[in-house]
Amino acid sequence: MEILVTNDDGIHAAGLRALAGALRPLGNVTVIAPDREQSAASHALTLHRPLRIKKVEDGILSVDGTPTDCVLLGVHGFMKSRKPDLVVSGINHGPNMGNDTSYSGTVAAAVEGTFLGIPSVAVSLATWNEADFEPAGVVAHDLVRTFLQHGVRPGMCISVNIPPIPRAAMKGVRVTRLGKRVFRDVIVEKTDPRGKLYYWIGGEDPTWEADELSDFNAVNDGYVSVTPLLLELTDYKAIVEMESWGLKLAGTT
Ligand code: MN
Repeated sequence: MEILVTNDDGIHAAGLRALAGALRPLGNVTVIAPDREQSAASHALTLHRPLRIKKVEDGILSVDGTPTDCVLLGVHGFMKSRKPDLVVSGINHGPNMGNDTSYSGTVAAAVEGTFLGIPSVAVSLATWNEADFEPAGVVAHDLVRTFLQHGVRPGMCISVNIPPIPRAAMKGVRVTRLGKRVFRDVIVEKTDPRGKLYYWIGGEDPTWEADELSDFNAVNDGYVSVTPLLLELTDYKAIVEMESWGLKLAGTT
């Protein structure tokens, strides 16, 4: 079992070390991660400059690029003679739930693995506070082992969010759907010392629509949230609807 481990918090992140250590009993782990933090990099790909891989230690490599670059370089470059059977991204320092999933570099790395035909898992610890990644590592190990026993298939992309509490305090695992964020005051407008307006994306703490089955709800209740993601973006219902719109270019039939 070849496992490619990556993240978006960078090669020196505690969560990455915890994940790699937790997965080593399950297979041959190769870590390929960005050389610096790339959070919120989403699915960015570096196309306008060369990328370099640097060996940090045996089986641990850094790339001067994004999480997506790391997976692409790993699968088609560095690991091409022993293609990974599984890509695991994390453990992210911070939640990746609901709508925020689209911005996440952690999830994007897993999505890239899935696009390349490899079942992939993203793991996030749902806190921005100083955190102990050890309990989350234990959970990542147990879940990945269970996923493998059940046979994760190519095309599967699973996002795991772990509550920031001791392992013994966790109540269990819930299979969830992505929750919906309530957007309000997400942009802060201020004036800089030179009298010019500037904007800061952030604002007040996010809140979420009430939804019993959501990832937020599970983590809030002390459960590990496991959300299977669908990467098919085509809206098949809309195809049927839009066929009746009679879309055409002027002068054509
Ligand atoms: Mn991150």
